[in-house]
Amino acid sequence: MAQLWKGAPVAAALTQQLIPRAQALRDRGVIPTLAILRVGERPEDLSYERGALKRCEKVGIAVRQFLLTADASQRDLMETIEEINRDESIHGCLMFRPLPKQLDEQAACAAFSPAKDVDGITAGSLAAVFSGSGAGYPPCTARACLEILDYYGYELKGKRAVVVGRSLVIGKPVSMLLLGRHATLTICHTRTADLAAECRRADVLVAAAGKAGAVSAACLAPGQVVLDVGINVDEAGNLVGDVDFAAAEATVEAITPVPGGVGAVTTSVLASHVIQAAEKASR
Ligand code: NAP
Repeated sequence: MAQLWKGAPVAAALTQQLIPRAQALRDRGVIPTLAILRVGERPEDLSYERGALKRCEKVGIAVRQFLLTADASQRDLMETIEEINRDESIHGCLMFRPLPKQLDEQAACAAFSPAKDVDGITAGSLAAVFSGSGAGYPPCTARACLEILDYYGYELKGKRAVVVGRSLVIGKPVSMLLLGRHATLTICHTRTADLAAECRRADVLVAAAGKAGAVSAACLAPGQVVLDVGINVDEAGNLVGDVDFAAAEATVEAITPVPGGVGAVTTSVLASHVIQAAEKASR
């Protein structure tokens, strides 16, 4: 039976490390502050926002919400981003995506001050992740995967890592973070010729396809550590990951559950990026 690598203890440990750092900033008169920019009221954005608000409160991070209606114009959006950029009391910003169709998301992402980009959406942050310079913040979900491996004491050096998915939000950045820890990397996608054979060779398998069952029993092998990033709704209306969980439980060494795995760590990583940004800005 596989070990269940839950996210809650990882998030709790991270939070405990962040509380004294937030307090140290406050003692110096700096209130670490996150701006949340939301356009419209998509249920998944509202749910993540509730989690982020709770986590920030626990850590001691102030949150300012910038809310636009779903029919907001590009001009409204760009002016809001400019306001956030200009405001020196704001250290980081989380903008929910995808934006409504009438908005140019690329232009919006590019407009953010890289120093406040705590979720890896600007080209500058992504360049830092790819160069390994450490100057920018990776997308929070990508870093959450590494936090889980670290918390459970998994040494990546020399291990074979296979990532299923190549998006800029998860697949590519998590791949670079794994490579940065000296894993030997394979990235799979919809044109991969034999997904099962590639996955079976993995010591660490990261599933970020966004498709229930994309990582089937045939992809799994004994001894593997499986991080399931996918969030999908099955036919019965349940939240499930990308991995055949029953097969994984019976086969692999450890797996993160969905819900309660990678997703549970993301807001703590966000909080950690805000604290880092506030520390940098107030040096
Ligand atoms: P995305 O932009 O749709 O990218 C999915 C990637 O997976 C693509 O590269 C695609 O390949 C690949 N893929 C899809 N089906 C596949 C299959 N059957 N076999 C092999 N590769 C396949 O999605 P995303 O934004 O990266 O998100 C991925 C998942 O993570 C989603 O379920 C999302 O909800 C979830 N997510 C979780 C969190 C969290 O906190 N846990 C945060 C954000 C997102 P191609 O490039 O060839 O199309």
